[in-house]
Amino acid sequence: VNPVVGVDLGGTKTAVALVRSDGSIGPRLESPTPAGSGPDAVLDLVSELVLAAADGAPLAGVGVGTAGIVNGAGQIISATDTFAGWVGTDVVAGLQRRIAGSGEVVVINDVDAHLLGEAWLGAARGWTSALMVAVGTGVGGAIMMDGRLWRGRRFAAGEIGHVPVPGAEGLRCPCGRDGHLEALSAGPALERAYCAATGLRIDARQVFARAGAGDQAAATVVRAGAEGLGRAIAGLVTALDPDGVVIGGGVADSGPLWWQPLQDTCRAELVSAFSAVPILPARLGVDAPILGAARSVLERSDRR
Ligand SMILES: [Zn+2]
Repeated sequence: VNPVVGVDLGGTKTAVALVRSDGSIGPRLESPTPAGSGPDAVLDLVSELVLAAADGAPLAGVGVGTAGIVNGAGQIISATDTFAGWVGTDVVAGLQRRIAGSGEVVVINDVDAHLLGEAWLGAARGWTSALMVAVGTGVGGAIMMDGRLWRGRRFAAGEIGHVPVPGAEGLRCPCGRDGHLEALSAGPALERAYCAATGLRIDARQVFARAGAGDQAAATVVRAGAEGLGRAIAGLVTALDPDGVVIGGGVADSGPLWWQPLQDTCRAELVSAFSAVPILPARLGVDAPILGAARSVLERSDRR
């Protein structure tokens, strides 16, 4: 089987690498995403990076994990304002036109790609069902059932940032509604909550550092974010009964100060049938979405 180029297309940067069917990965190439310059500029950049990563090797295809909600044909049906004009873009057709002869193009959501990567080679390896949660500048999620991504009737399954949770009452979510998980637990939510409590504007990393150094306001903000996420995960585990839960994203790198209240809250909410469900940190770091996007192409050729 020829290798595949995996693409992690995010709002701030795009990263690609050549991925072989045994899971080995080539050098990572990265560039800022010209998200504000429109879809053509973004697709031009992705094409350039794909060709550079392939370096003349024949490809079985190109797998793309992108920010936004993607339909079954690889068209963007919803995205944040960071990506000018991204909604309506046919990413599959746009890439096929630019890099004809590079094999099949598969486009999926970036958190879906993250989960596919972790299920292939990371924390969810060997599981046939999983819930993935990515906590960073937003809160995203992905669901795998019976060994396949569960994308939902509207391709929006797993958009768990917009689950209502206790503790988020009165907090404005980026979607414009009050009381959603993302408004309580995402990195920017921690920054806003700390600023509201102290008047100090610092980034989420600094909030964690202060919480670790004994700052009570910071510790309260971190704990509230972690507990809200723990409750939301308990609800989803109860509905789905997955093999396990994997948590990734920048906020998830923040150590026991965050993980402990998350685990404690989640386990306290879960009835005893779920007491053994593993809730694990993601293991593949920044390579996960690239590996998972590539896997989405390799899986299709496996099935043929
Ligand atoms: Zn929302």
